Amino acid sequence: MKNHYDIAVIGGGAGGLFFTALAAKIHKDKNIILIEKNQRVGKKLLITGNGRCNLTNIYVKEENYHGTFRIYTGEVLKACSSDKVLELFSEMGLMTKADDFGRVYPKSNQASSVLDVLRFNAEKENVTFCCECKALSVEKSNLFKIATDKGNFTADKVIVATGGAASPKAGGDKSGYEILKNLGHTVIKPSPALCPVLVKSDYLKSLKGVRVQGEIGLEVDGKCVRKELGEIQFTENALSGICVFNLSGYIEKHKSYILKIKLMPELDFNALVETLCRNREVFSTLDAENLMTGMLHKRVAQIVLKDAKVSLNKKARDISDKEIKAIASKLNSLDFEVLGVKDLSDAQVTKGGVKGDEIDANTMESKKIKGLYVIGEALDCNGDCGGFNLHFAFATAYLAASAL
Ligand SMILES: Cc1cc2nc3c(=O)[nH]c(=O)nc-3n(C[C@H](O)[C@H](O)[C@H](O)COP(=O)(O)OP(=O)(O)OC[C@H]3O[C@@H](n4cnc5c(N)ncnc54)[C@H](O)[C@@H]3O)c2cc1C
Repeated sequence: MKNHYDIAVIGGGAGGLFFTALAAKIHKDKNIILIEKNQRVGKKLLITGNGRCNLTNIYVKEENYHGTFRIYTGEVLKACSSDKVLELFSEMGLMTKADDFGRVYPKSNQASSVLDVLRFNAEKENVTFCCECKALSVEKSNLFKIATDKGNFTADKVIVATGGAASPKAGGDKSGYEILKNLGHTVIKPSPALCPVLVKSDYLKSLKGVRVQGEIGLEVDGKCVRKELGEIQFTENALSGICVFNLSGYIEKHKSYILKIKLMPELDFNALVETLCRNREVFSTLDAENLMTGMLHKRVAQIVLKDAKVSLNKKARDISDKEIKAIASKLNSLDFEVLGVKDLSDAQVTKGGVKGDEIDANTMESKKIKGLYVIGEALDCNGDCGGFNLHFAFATAYLAASAL
């Protein structure tokens, strides 16, 4: 480590690496150092998208983001769309492909390819990588003074790319927030987003491990906050899956929420009654628990019957019309009382971070301290599941690298 660098990047995650690879190419004459507290850079990147890295989404728009920076995401996306991110990755040597939902992955299907491409591009331009080096504080006088657990150095410009506090095993940490607070920034309290939702239910244990396709809505005081369509996973004490993750960020403490699952969203109430009546005939001699054979996972069907107060042991032909309607109602809305969300260790992203209006959305430079840039999840901006969070990290990194 030298005594002085032109540019210091704190955090070797998605945003820090993308910034470094771009800035090193644009500013060949500059000395750049990237410091990372983990043994290696990009630890979190490797576990993204279940190891496949969903790096952007071709349908990305402002509405996919939340937090105080959300109102500025339109400007960020105008300057750096998913096409732009893909063009930049292509120039770096990464081939990609999109699925039907617009989610983009490396063609290799390996998150490690994304990390390799970023690392190779930065290394080619002689960036100094300093791992197992934690930034402890940053002070600004004429220059920035950066104190780390491996020694101190100065820099003309500092990029804070320390991410959020989610997933501490992969590097999630609150130290970046402390550094930014000490520099005078307001930090909105970090809390978990994109995480499983804890629910109260006598039935959950028997559903553990089951996955269903359906519609799930989050309701507070009888009003629907948001609905999602997709796969819902049952765990011992929580509901999980992408659509549940997307709802988790809306759950606030001290409010009573209900998660309502529509198990067969393609059928309305009358169609459900009709189907159940037909099945009552088809499976007339079998026990009631077979009524929904071919419609639903058997364990879910048992819960629906229990919730509708229909005995599992009676014969299907003995199920009354009233009971058929009660079953149809439960298929339309299987309800779970929300107890809260899982904590930051189970979350994919952090809600909270540096307040949106303290950063210039055209350059990502701090409005409080010249030469200080904040990118990625360190900002109060959390995206939906589907490549939006990595897109934000890459897009803000691009803005900062272009503005320097
Ligand atoms: C399991 C999981 C799966 C995910 N999958 C996806 C996905 O497929 N698509 C998607 O869009 N998003 C996904 N995300 C979210 C996405 O990974 C993050 O939003 C994104 O990595 C944020 O980028 P960042 O550069 O801001 O922070 P990070 O990638 O978290 O990088 C921050 C880096 O800074 C380092 N650091 C922190 N403090 C210090 C310090 N004081 N000194 C030195 N280094 C420090 C950390 O160790 C870390 O390496 C996923 C998250 C998780 C946990």
